[in-house]
Amino acid sequence: MELISIVVPCYNEEKALPLFYVEISKVLQKMADEFGVGFEMIFVDDGSKDNTLGLLREYRKSDRRVRYISFSRNFGKEAAIIAGLRKAAGDYVALMDADLQDPPALLADMYRGLTDKSKNIDCVATRRVTRKGEPKIRSFFARMFYRLMKRISDTEIVDGARDYRMMTRKMVDSILSINEYNRFSKGIFSWVGFDTHWLEYENIERVAGETKWSFFKLFSYSLEGIVAFSTAPLSIASFTGILFCVLSFLLILVVVIRALIWGDPVAGWPSTVCIILFIGGIQLFCIGILGQYLAKTYLETKNRPLYIIRESETDIV
Ligand code: UDP
Ligand code: MG
Repeated sequence: MELISIVVPCYNEEKALPLFYVEISKVLQKMADEFGVGFEMIFVDDGSKDNTLGLLREYRKSDRRVRYISFSRNFGKEAAIIAGLRKAAGDYVALMDADLQDPPALLADMYRGLTDKSKNIDCVATRRVTRKGEPKIRSFFARMFYRLMKRISDTEIVDGARDYRMMTRKMVDSILSINEYNRFSKGIFSWVGFDTHWLEYENIERVAGETKWSFFKLFSYSLEGIVAFSTAPLSIASFTGILFCVLSFLLILVVVIRALIWGDPVAGWPSTVCIILFIGGIQLFCIGILGQYLAKTYLETKNRPLYIIRESETDIV
């Protein structure tokens, strides 16, 4: 019998989790009847401060398909994803959020897509075609980010792509072979290659609880994406450097020629100060870019584990 693993990162989801569990159980029952497949659900409690872990323990007691990992603190969704993928034993692995923003009914379509031999794909992923119900400013910056990434990165990062997807074992293993510390899943999914089929749907708002992503968190996550999948910002420094060399050379010529022809009228210290400030600013900016990459390299070389597990279902038997 084929096994499908469902990986669900959960952070403070005590409100949404019961609703999710009911919904997913229904869908899995239907799929088990239709396709004759087995399931395991892998919940990753990302250091929740509420009763999420308590709920998971309870589910495990009555439902052997439930497996879980609980982190010692909040390590972020990326860490939860990789922990879940590592634990998953299925021939197919699906990844979804606990807030029902990822409609569970699509799992059947995903499985059909992956098992369709005529299609020969290794991943069925989902994409939101609208961002309805999201703050306008957030949508605007999200769009800017995807547009920028398209220009500066060789890895394609699809606009509106969700993490909600089902993958074959082959693709999961290739994702697990990437040992980066600074993980940006949306990029990694596309970097490993394999053919992906996209299902599209309208944005759905979360059923309960609230989003864990503040604007600032999303902003630094997007920087993570840029630094992890593009080195274009590094060349900004070289380009501005060259540009300013050429400009200053031309200016020197102008100044020398003007002095030779008209003498040297002493004037214009404000403009000098402006230029110094301007160049100083550009230098700081470029050093900042260098710093971003250096910081990531530093974290990468420390080779710390991505997360620490405090408890898993084997602890409660
Ligand atoms: N999540 C997590 N760790 C975090 C933040 C979020 O595991 O530090 C989980 C969260 O429980 C949910 C999923 O990631 O299952 C998506 O989070 P959320 O719904 O808050 O994000 P949004 O849908 O608003 O982008
Ligand atoms: Mg959500």
